[in-house]
Amino acid sequence: MKPQLLKSEEKHDLQVTTNFNLSELEFRSVIPDEYLGNAKKLLIELQKVRDALGSPIIITSGYRAAEYNQEIGGATKSQHLTACAVDCYAKNLTVQAFHKFVREGIKAKKWNFKGLGFYDRGWIHVDIRDTPHLVEWIG
Ligand SMILES: [Zn+2]
Repeated sequence: MKPQLLKSEEKHDLQVTTNFNLSELEFRSVIPDEYLGNAKKLLIELQKVRDALGSPIIITSGYRAAEYNQEIGGATKSQHLTACAVDCYAKNLTVQAFHKFVREGIKAKKWNFKGLGFYDRGWIHVDIRDTPHLVEWIG
C-alpha cells in the first residue's frame, strides 16, 4: 500500500527561514522531534543558496521515514532518514546550472553541505551529513 501524502494540518507549520517552512520537508512522513534540529539546520543552509540565487528553489523530497524510504528504494543509510537531506531544483535554472552553482558555493564555503548528488532527471541532492569532506555522486 502506498503511503498517502500528508494533509497540511499534519505537517509542522513553522517558518524556519525567509523562504522555507518546515512543512516543505514533509511529504509522506512527519519529522520526529529528535530530527527537528537537523531539519532546521538544513533549511538554514538551503536559504543561503536561495538568497544567492535570488529565485525559488523547489523541494521535491525531504524527510523520509524508514518504511517509505525503503519503498522508494532509497539508500539504507540515506541522509533523508534523519532530515539531513533535500532533493530540489531551481525554478529558473537548468539542473546542470543549479548543480554547478551549488557546487561552486560549497567549494567557496558559502554554504555548508557535505553531500551533493546530481540527477539529470531534474534535481540535485544536498545534505548536511557529519563528515569532513564533500561526498559527491551522479545518480
Ligand atoms: Zn536525496
